[in-house]
Amino acid sequence: MNSSTPAERLNGTRTGHICDRCNKSIRTGDLVRAYATYYDHDGWMLRRTWCEDCGDSTINESTDGADEVILEAVFWNHRLVSVETRDRSRPTTGVEQ
Ligand SMILES: [Zn+2]
Repeated sequence: MNSSTPAERLNGTRTGHICDRCNKSIRTGDLVRAYATYYDHDGWMLRRTWCEDCGDSTINESTDGADEVILEAVFWNHRLVSVETRDRSRPTTGVEQ
Protein backbone atom coordinates (compact mmCIF):
# COMPACT_ATOMS: atom_id res chain seq x y z
CA MET A 1 0.00 0.00 0.00
CA ASN A 2 1.04 3.53 -0.67
CA SER A 3 1.49 5.32 2.61
CA SER A 4 2.27 8.81 1.35
CA THR A 5 -0.32 11.51 1.94
CA PRO A 6 -2.35 13.10 -0.88
CA ALA A 7 -0.49 16.35 -0.23
CA GLU A 8 2.83 14.59 -0.83
CA ARG A 9 1.52 12.81 -3.92
CA LEU A 10 0.14 16.00 -5.48
CA ASN A 11 3.06 18.25 -4.66
CA GLY A 12 4.52 19.41 -7.98
CA THR A 13 1.41 18.52 -10.02
CA ARG A 14 0.92 20.61 -13.15
CA THR A 15 -2.26 22.69 -13.18
CA GLY A 16 -3.94 25.39 -15.22
CA HIS A 17 -3.66 29.06 -14.29
CA ILE A 18 -7.38 29.87 -14.48
CA CYS A 19 -9.61 29.57 -11.43
CA ASP A 20 -12.24 26.87 -12.04
CA ARG A 21 -14.91 28.95 -10.31
CA CYS A 22 -14.44 32.62 -11.29
CA ASN A 23 -12.05 32.31 -14.28
CA LYS A 24 -9.60 34.73 -12.72
CA SER A 25 -6.04 34.06 -13.73
CA ILE A 26 -3.75 32.75 -11.07
CA ARG A 27 -0.18 34.00 -10.92
CA THR A 28 3.01 32.43 -9.68
CA GLY A 29 3.25 32.94 -5.95
CA ASP A 30 -0.53 33.05 -5.41
CA LEU A 31 -2.13 30.89 -2.76
CA VAL A 32 -4.63 28.46 -4.28
CA ARG A 33 -7.03 25.75 -3.20
CA ALA A 34 -7.34 22.49 -5.06
CA TYR A 35 -9.63 19.50 -5.04
CA ALA A 36 -8.48 15.97 -5.82
CA THR A 37 -10.03 12.52 -5.89
CA TYR A 38 -8.42 9.12 -5.51
CA TYR A 39 -8.89 6.54 -8.26
CA ASP A 40 -7.77 2.96 -7.87
CA HIS A 41 -5.94 2.89 -11.19
CA ASP A 42 -4.47 6.35 -11.30
CA GLY A 43 -3.97 7.37 -7.70
CA TRP A 44 -4.64 10.96 -6.69
CA MET A 45 -5.96 13.07 -9.58
CA LEU A 46 -6.25 16.83 -9.41
CA ARG A 47 -9.80 17.81 -10.40
CA ARG A 48 -10.15 21.53 -9.65
CA THR A 49 -7.94 24.51 -8.92
CA TRP A 50 -9.38 27.66 -7.41
CA CYS A 51 -7.99 31.07 -6.57
CA GLU A 52 -7.75 31.97 -2.92
CA ASP A 53 -11.03 33.93 -3.03
CA CYS A 54 -13.19 31.04 -4.26
CA GLY A 55 -11.46 28.02 -2.86
CA ASP A 56 -13.31 25.74 -0.50
CA SER A 57 -11.60 24.79 2.71
CA THR A 58 -13.91 21.87 3.40
CA ILE A 59 -15.52 19.24 1.21
CA ASN A 60 -19.13 20.30 0.62
CA GLU A 61 -20.39 17.99 -2.07
CA SER A 62 -18.74 14.72 -1.27
CA THR A 63 -18.97 11.82 -3.68
CA ASP A 64 -20.28 8.69 -2.07
CA GLY A 65 -17.48 6.43 -0.99
CA ALA A 66 -14.75 8.35 -2.77
CA ASP A 67 -11.59 9.45 -1.07
CA GLU A 68 -11.45 13.19 -1.72
CA VAL A 69 -9.23 15.93 -0.47
CA ILE A 70 -9.12 19.72 -0.39
CA LEU A 71 -5.62 21.11 -0.59
CA GLU A 72 -4.02 24.45 -0.01
CA ALA A 73 -0.97 25.17 -2.13
CA VAL A 74 1.15 27.83 -3.76
CA PHE A 75 0.87 28.17 -7.55
CA TRP A 76 4.36 28.23 -9.04
CA ASN A 77 5.12 28.06 -12.77
CA HIS A 78 1.96 26.06 -13.45
CA ARG A 79 2.62 23.63 -10.65
CA LEU A 80 1.30 23.22 -7.15
CA VAL A 81 3.97 23.48 -4.50
CA SER A 82 3.99 23.59 -0.68
CA VAL A 83 0.84 21.47 -0.78
CA GLU A 84 -1.02 20.96 2.48
CA THR A 85 -4.19 19.02 3.23
CA ARG A 86 -7.11 21.12 4.47
CA ASP A 87 -9.89 18.55 4.50
CA ARG A 88 -10.36 14.92 3.55
CA SER A 89 -13.58 12.97 3.10
CA ARG A 90 -12.15 9.78 4.45
CA PRO A 91 -10.51 10.34 7.80
CA THR A 92 -7.32 8.42 8.09
CA THR A 93 -6.12 6.52 11.07
CA GLY A 94 -2.96 7.81 12.60
CA VAL A 95 -0.39 8.40 9.90
CA GLU A 96 -1.87 11.48 8.23
CA GLN A 97 0.05 14.58 9.42
ZN1 LIG B 1 -11.66 32.31 -8.27
